[in-house]
Amino acid sequence: MKAIVDSRKCTVCGVCSDVCPSGAIELKETGIEISEDCTLCGMCVDTCEFGALSMPEVGKGPSGDLSAYQGVWVFAEWREGVIHKVSHELLSAGRKLADKRGVGLSAVLLGYRIETGVAEELISYGADQVYIVDNPELAHFTDEAYSKVVVELVRRKRPEILLAGATSIGRSFVPRVAASLQTGLTADCTDLDISEEGLLLQTRPAFGGNVMATILCPHRRPQMATVRPKVMKPAKLDGRQGRIEYPTVPEECFRSRVEVLEVVPEKDQTAKLTEADVIVSGGRGLRKGENFALVEEVAHLINGAVGASRGAVEEGWIPPSHQVGQTGRTVAPTLYMAVGIAGAIQHVVGMQGSQVIVAVNKDPQAPIFDVANVGVVADLFEFIPAFVRKIRRERGEG
Ligand SMILES: Cc1cc2nc3c(=O)[nH]c(=O)nc-3n(C[C@H](O)[C@H](O)[C@H](O)COP(=O)(O)OP(=O)(O)OC[C@H]3O[C@@H](n4cnc5c(N)ncnc54)[C@H](O)[C@@H]3O)c2cc1C
Repeated sequence: MKAIVDSRKCTVCGVCSDVCPSGAIELKETGIEISEDCTLCGMCVDTCEFGALSMPEVGKGPSGDLSAYQGVWVFAEWREGVIHKVSHELLSAGRKLADKRGVGLSAVLLGYRIETGVAEELISYGADQVYIVDNPELAHFTDEAYSKVVVELVRRKRPEILLAGATSIGRSFVPRVAASLQTGLTADCTDLDISEEGLLLQTRPAFGGNVMATILCPHRRPQMATVRPKVMKPAKLDGRQGRIEYPTVPEECFRSRVEVLEVVPEKDQTAKLTEADVIVSGGRGLRKGENFALVEEVAHLINGAVGASRGAVEEGWIPPSHQVGQTGRTVAPTLYMAVGIAGAIQHVVGMQGSQVIVAVNKDPQAPIFDVANVGVVADLFEFIPAFVRKIRRERGEG
């Protein structure tokens, strides 16, 4: 689908081509040509003073009657008997959305040998209802089976909103669900709300993090979003009651061309970083790559993961998977220690949810001190070795 040109009104002035962010409009001798790169952003329509451009009618799409869709759903991610924390976060956020819309909140739980305690846990985080599909074919995650089951449930029950974590599992299968249902998907959201018209406001960083874009899905259902872990606050509620339902799903949905032979636990630091309770991050103040050993030593001593600013990543001192911030990971550990990091807003948005922030910086004016609970104004090359010595001494390690 693309913008529509009325060739009788078009003067081939070229303004639309200049404003098109996708480069989808080409000027020809006889008129303009719009390619499949058109994203229907509408900028050309807004700028054309001759009224020669319009958006296609999308009101009656494959979703049919939009008012038939009701309720908020959260895909509850469950791995080896444990609910992923992002599902708690999404249920708490989903609860607020459902209350604003005056509808129910449901969790969808897929797996094998799921104990009812897991469903009760989801209810305690806000779900009114839990749909469980328990089948040996769902014991291990596969894109095909998981997406087919979710699509089947959505077609049957018609939720207006479907949320999932922007985890490796969510990022992998949720786009398939959206494509099968021919609806939109906003990936990697950092904020969600409901507009006055009752639409889901899906906010995420865009253009490399330079703007925050709020995206709507007005013509298709469900409105789908994946949400970054740790950006929403989980809230456990006491004394909640909910229903548990076991919908039957056609056998065909469980079929997958993928066979899981072995599951190998993730060794990548990235996973450690977002889950870590303690993080020690280094910045450009470390001056060179080998000095990252100082940060690693502190992290090792206090059982933490190693993070970094984009400054340090850009210097090539540490891989991008360690980057904390707007274009890196969002973290919220109990303790976050920033060593030689200035505290640019793009870094701070990724760590400001930490419970205690300790900053070490030689510049007393560094913005990191605005968010730090404990500020150490010192040269890190003096402070960190002294700090390490003190910990070792107190532990009787010499
Ligand atoms: C679109 C966009 C997205 C971005 N995304 C991210 C992101 O996800 N994460 C991120 O971190 N940044 C991001 N940035 C970059 C961000 O703006 C900063 O440039 C970056 O965070 C700076 O890294 P830094 O603090 O390590 O380096 P610097 O700004 O160079 O700061 C180094 C700090 O170290 C201190 N220092 C120097 N020597 C010592 C010493 N001996 N002892 C103690 N302190 C010392 C200095 O006083 C200074 O405060 C992004 C930028 C843009 C434009």
